[in-house]
Amino acid sequence: MPWLTGFPRKEVPWFPTIDAKKCVGCGMCMNCGKNVYDWVEGKAVVARPYDCAVGCSTCAALCQGKAISFPEVGPVRAIYVREKIWTKVKEQLVEQSKIPSQEGE
Ligand code: SF4
Ligand code: SF4
Repeated sequence: MPWLTGFPRKEVPWFPTIDAKKCVGCGMCMNCGKNVYDWVEGKAVVARPYDCAVGCSTCAALCQGKAISFPEVGPVRAIYVREKIWTKVKEQLVEQSKIPSQEGE
C-alpha cells in the first residue's frame, strides 16, 4: 500500500492514547486490524503505537468509554505537504490503476 511512500512511520505523530481511568474494558479496540493493542488485566493497552494506520480513528469512534484520543491532525497534514506525500501517494495509486491518471479519462 502506498500510504507514506517510504517516509518513516515513527516521524508521523499519529497513534492512540488510552485514558486508563475511562477504559471500561469493552474490548472494541482489540478489533483493530493493525494489532496495535494488547489486553492486560482486563483492559486494553497501546502496545504498538506506530502500527496504527495514519489517519485512522476507528477505535476511538467505537470505544464505549470514550477513552481513546489521538494527536491533532494538523501536524500530520503539514508533514504530508512538506514531504509531498499526497503527490507521491496519488502517483502510486495511478500506477496501481486504482485511480485514473487524470480526472475524466
Ligand atoms: S486508529 Fe485504526 S489502526 Fe489505529 S489503533 Fe485504532 S483501529 Fe487500529
Ligand atoms: S475500546 Fe475503549 S473502553 Fe473499550 S477496551 Fe478499548 S480503550 Fe477500553
